[in-house]
Amino acid sequence: MVNLSNVDQQQTKILFDAYLHDKIAHAYLFIDPTGYTALATAYWLICLLNCTGEHKPDANCNNCQRILNGNHPDVFLVEAENKKSLSIDQIRPLKEELAKKPVEGSRRFFIVKDASLLTLSANNALLNLLEEPVAPVVTILIANNENTILPTVRSRTQIIHFAPTKQKSSVTEDLLTYGLNEDEIADMGDVSNLEQEITYLYQELCQQNELSIVRAYKISKLAAKSNLQKFVFYKLAKIAMEKIEKNKDYLFAPKLLQLLMECDKMRTNNVSFYNCLNYIVLSFN
Ligand SMILES: [Zn+2]
Repeated sequence: MVNLSNVDQQQTKILFDAYLHDKIAHAYLFIDPTGYTALATAYWLICLLNCTGEHKPDANCNNCQRILNGNHPDVFLVEAENKKSLSIDQIRPLKEELAKKPVEGSRRFFIVKDASLLTLSANNALLNLLEEPVAPVVTILIANNENTILPTVRSRTQIIHFAPTKQKSSVTEDLLTYGLNEDEIADMGDVSNLEQEITYLYQELCQQNELSIVRAYKISKLAAKSNLQKFVFYKLAKIAMEKIEKNKDYLFAPKLLQLLMECDKMRTNNVSFYNCLNYIVLSFN
């Protein structure tokens, strides 16, 4: 089963934007040096275009599930498996499929993984496929290097470059040890605004500023989901630890850490996130 938490967040933003503006291309070339995120992103796109859920793609509805499990009749994956090349014999079935109508959705999807391994004849067969816009098909080629794809094929695709897979950032590592799972981390989205508010909250708490009450309320609104709530506690603890390492806030920071640990226990006893934050705020005011 494909795991959508491996998608490239930056590229999904681009594709989501295209989706919103009804500008999904009929052929993409995903250039991914490591091949790690492009395939997940290809499936993400197909799920997006077929999802029946409210938050597309939810990876959860019947369509998404079948796509991710490789059981959807409109989705075809061609891959080299362990072969050294992708031959014309592997591309030919796509040509046959091209003549057919989508079984369920409004279009069919061809993923050609390992497109760098296409033989010259396979490249040409693919070119024919891309030249015949008869059927509603989205073809996604995944290659590790764009120079391995025939220029004539390349020019018929929209090229999307994926960054080499980064080492997991230290923040991700921290969040994992803090008890968030990979899905929760992937689902956090852009937290820069929330992070800023948490930094302000730390300062206001440290200065016993009454504005911290308002700030806590604001943060509780921003962090409606449990993964974001965990992030708030993680981030507060992180700031406190950094201060302690620098011998700063030597009375305040340890006390905050103590309170965060108490909040951890309160949370397991179903005390609401907002009440936990308030408990911290009131302890300093
Ligand atoms: Zn879905």
